[in-house]
Amino acid sequence: MVKVPPLTDTFNRRISYLRLSVTDRCDLRCAYCMPERMQFLPKAEVLSLEELYQLALEFIARGVTKIRLTGGEPLVRRDVIDLVRALGRKLGDGLDELTLTTNGTQLAEYAQPLFDAGVRRVNVSIDTLDAALFERLTRRDRLAQVLDGIAAAKDAGLQVKINTVALKGLNENEIPRLVEWAHGEGHDLTLIEVMPLGEVDGERVDHYLPLPAARDRLEERFVLHDIGDSTGGPARYARVAETGGRLGFISPLTNNFCASCNRIRVTATGQLYACLGGAEKVDLRAALRSDAPGANVAAALDEAMRIKPERHHFAIAEGAAPAQPRHMSVTGG
Ligand code: SAM
Ligand code: SF4
Repeated sequence: MVKVPPLTDTFNRRISYLRLSVTDRCDLRCAYCMPERMQFLPKAEVLSLEELYQLALEFIARGVTKIRLTGGEPLVRRDVIDLVRALGRKLGDGLDELTLTTNGTQLAEYAQPLFDAGVRRVNVSIDTLDAALFERLTRRDRLAQVLDGIAAAKDAGLQVKINTVALKGLNENEIPRLVEWAHGEGHDLTLIEVMPLGEVDGERVDHYLPLPAARDRLEERFVLHDIGDSTGGPARYARVAETGGRLGFISPLTNNFCASCNRIRVTATGQLYACLGGAEKVDLRAALRSDAPGANVAAALDEAMRIKPERHHFAIAEGAAPAQPRHMSVTGG
């Protein structure tokens, strides 16, 4: 068999981590992510689960060792668990870790099947523990369902990391409580700066909270010790002395982390975006559906490595257009 070279970009970064979006659809409408009347992609354009699996195999053959399934909401795609099970069989056979990012609404049903398929860690996004604010942020009344899902994940033996977008004037005063709750439950918590991706109904800048400011406020209450842990993602971590838990900061606007980027993203329609903040992409669906899928997908992956930019250039300002027209629900973050 011909040995294919691992994915390495022109800045000598090894790409070992694939974020694979299985759907752009979602059962929530988080106000910073998408408008209430979001236009989803026509289903006919979306790859089948079998095609998503075939693509994942191509990535594994090129040295990808970690796959995160995302969306939209990955668990609203019908039969997605079949894909999880198929990928789970690659664990220990090229794949080191299979994980997913979810809003948690379907976790009560899926936690055990995910664990049984080999998933050991999940990221669950939750921005508030207040039911009224949850409904305002997500435009849906689902807090109890999400909390049940998180509890089910813990019961099933899944390690849970909570992701929270820090939002000025919305959840900013609740962040200490979220830290105490998450750490009390044994979950890490990571704060994220809101990113200017896709048009939403309001102005994102109105609720943009730079994480250095959020950290200063947390340090009025907690002692934070920076730690060097790396989970292969962009977060920088601190240990909270009072809770003993880990607190992550993903600061794409105030603290660029692109130099260590090891990631690549594929949308549910098979478009590989070389950078979350950039337009550079290759069409893996066309390659996969061509006469010579093996050679054409390999060539497309080489092209992706050639065009992956050195860094993103996010900026957030009043009246400014989003950095990219596509929403986070297309690439899955
Ligand atoms: N639906 C799943 C969820 O919410 O976890 C997976 C997809 S969602 C797009 C992935 C992550 O992106 C979530 O943690 C969400 O809070 C975050 N996100 C969505 N839009 C964002 C934005 N504009 N800026 C920063 N984070 C965003
Ligand atoms: Fe859905 Fe996740 Fe976007 Fe919220 S952040 S609307 S849960 S895709």
